[in-house]
Amino acid sequence: MKRIMTVLLVIMLAVLGLAVYSYLNKDSQASAATTPEPTAEVTAQPTAAATAEPTATPDFTSGDSLLILANKSHKLPDGYVPSDLTWSVDCGTGACYMREPAAEALQEMFSAAAADGVNLTLLSAYRSEDYQATLYNGYVSSYGTERADKISSRPGYSDHQTGLAADIGSSTDSSADLNGPLFAATAEGQWLYEHAHEYGFIERYPDGKEEYTGYNFESWHYRYVGVETATAIYNVDPEETFEEYFNVSGGTTYTE
Ligand SMILES: [Zn+2]
Repeated sequence: MKRIMTVLLVIMLAVLGLAVYSYLNKDSQASAATTPEPTAEVTAQPTAAATAEPTATPDFTSGDSLLILANKSHKLPDGYVPSDLTWSVDCGTGACYMREPAAEALQEMFSAAAADGVNLTLLSAYRSEDYQATLYNGYVSSYGTERADKISSRPGYSDHQTGLAADIGSSTDSSADLNGPLFAATAEGQWLYEHAHEYGFIERYPDGKEEYTGYNFESWHYRYVGVETATAIYNVDPEETFEEYFNVSGGTTYTE
């Protein structure tokens, strides 16, 4: 009898021990399942912060920046020549080069316009500091300094010297070329106004924005800034200027 009691006690202890073991084991499995979650959350945060940084600090001065700025308050570095100039599309003169990303985007834009039955033509793209000096001095001798400064840039201040600007005309109605209101009214001018941002270009000198840009209305002058920035600017307003969007100085008076 005593022996039977001892065997029963051992069995009961064994069952109890098993129950306790499995209970503890279950608990540790459950806590193991919950621990990976916070780790994943912590590692995700720094990546998001790192990718947000470049857009927070736009670069208006470096030679390789797509946001390099030229206006009457921002002179380009002395003797600046972009390092990645490449042939864009034929413009009938020697000024058909642009920086590589802009040249590729311009080709793509011209093809897309042609597919819509709109015939764009390139009039002028990259202009060297020397070429700009010749152009500007020509305007000064024809019209005087005051008028020349409204329609042309002094050398070192031209958007064309960045290699990111293009003067675009109509290949079917060239009589409107380089005329603000007239070119804006052509099918080519309207197509550019609506679609240029899709290829990374903004209208650089919109109507009535001289106080910001420093120049009269140039419906034909488009500037490459990249698709993301061009779309963001366009979405504020198709006639939002670079100067307004980035809150940088411009204006009609040369600062140097
Ligand atoms: Zn121009």
